[in-house]
Parts: sequence; structure tokens; C-alpha cells
Amino acid sequence: MDTVDRRTILATGALALAGAAATSSAEAQAGPKAIFPVGTTTIPIVGETDVFPVRRIYCIGRNYAAHAREMGSDPNREPPFFFQKPTDAIQNVAIGTVADHPYPSLTKNYHYEVELVAALKSGGSNISPEAALEHVYGYALGLDMTRRDLQRAMGDEKKPWEIGKSFDRSAVLGPIHPAAKIGHFTKGAISLAVNGNVKQNSNLQNMIWSVAEQIAKLSEAFELKAGDIIYSGTPENVGPVVKGDLLLCKIEGLPDMSIKIV
Ligand code: MN
Repeated sequence: MDTVDRRTILATGALALAGAAATSSAEAQAGPKAIFPVGTTTIPIVGETDVFPVRRIYCIGRNYAAHAREMGSDPNREPPFFFQKPTDAIQNVAIGTVADHPYPSLTKNYHYEVELVAALKSGGSNISPEAALEHVYGYALGLDMTRRDLQRAMGDEKKPWEIGKSFDRSAVLGPIHPAAKIGHFTKGAISLAVNGNVKQNSNLQNMIWSVAEQIAKLSEAFELKAGDIIYSGTPENVGPVVKGDLLLCKIEGLPDMSIKIV
């Protein structure tokens, strides 16, 4: 049996060598193979067949003064801050559809936050506000869905927010619109309605930090790279949803985005 096994091993080795010789140099340079596949997260791009690959999801907190006040902080003294969601937390929502969005586990106070999202095609560290928009590939309409009760409870205990902000499907997102086609957003109406009743209603020019300033500030803390997306914060009047609710999100200049809580 030893002989047979050794022959088998030798034969397998010979086949492996033959296989290795047949692979291209590019594949040989790829290094060890992953032991199982892990999905990549992508976002559709309007007007393109190619998709936008996501590296990281950054979110900015309290970037509208009125929202900062409703969350119990003073926007004049407390600067906006950043947190992250896991890359695979994205739920893509196609234009003209109503996506089913499952009410998540553990929460009894599930909130919407409508936001403008910027998608980066390049990055760097210590980017100046003047150069920041050169790194933006495009924009999308997003929802930073939040388990408000868990976020607040963790905040009260001075623990991380993860469970309130960084869960599955918490980053709802429409497709990306290339800035080359639609330009950059410094103003424009932003709103959210639940079952036809407008709840959030503001203007992008009310953001405390502009998208360019967000990129500049973020790049002081993190080296930004292509594939990073930034949720730019929500205006005031965040609130709860229940199963069956229909959410309609609008940003002037972008197609609407809609989800149903199921
Ligand atoms: Mn938010």
C-alpha cells in the first residue's frame, strides 16, 4: 500500500507541476488561493454596465445643525464625527423599484436617516478641501438605517455603537450617478416621506461640513482609497418605522429611492 500511495502522490505532484507550468505568469503571481470564496460588494452605476466596487463605508454623524440639536448636542461646540459600517451592509435599491427591507432583529425603535452619499474613485491622506472633489467618482441617495434604541443604550453606557449602526442591510443605497455627468452637490432639496407624509425635509446646503470638507477631514484620520463611500449625514426629524411602512427618499437632481419595511 505504501508503494501505491507513493505512486499516487508522485503522480499527483507531477500533475500539479504540469498544471503550474500551464498557468499564466499573472496567475502564478497571485499567490496562495483563498480556501473559500468571500463575496465582494458592488454598487450599480447609472448608464454603465460596469459596477462600483466598495472598499469601506464611512458615515458622518451630526452634520446638520438641527439634527445635532435633536440628538442632544450643540453643533457649535461639538464637531461632526465619523463611524463605519461593514462593506457588506449595503442593500442596493434599483431606480423605479420598491425594495423589501426586513425590519432587523433586537430593536423596537428602528429609524430612517436619508443622506447624500459620495463614492470615491481615488484617495489619499491629508487631502485639501480644494482638491477633495477630484476624488469623487459619483453620488447616490442613501439611507443610514439605525437601531436607535440600541445606539442610544450603547452611547449611555459609553460602549461602541456597532449594534445600533453597523448591521446587515443598514446601508441602503441607490445606484451611483457619475459626477462627470451630473456634477457635484453643494445644495438641493433632500427629503424623506413615510407612507406619503413628509418627515425629513431640508437642503444639502444646510450640511455643517460640505462633501469636500468631509473628505478633507476624513483623510486626516484615515488614508482614503478608491472604492470608499461616504454617507454625509442626515437632516433633522429622524424617526421610527414599522413593518408595512413605505419610505420614499428624494434628493434634487437624483431619481427617487423607495423601500418597504417587511
Ligand atoms: Mn447618519
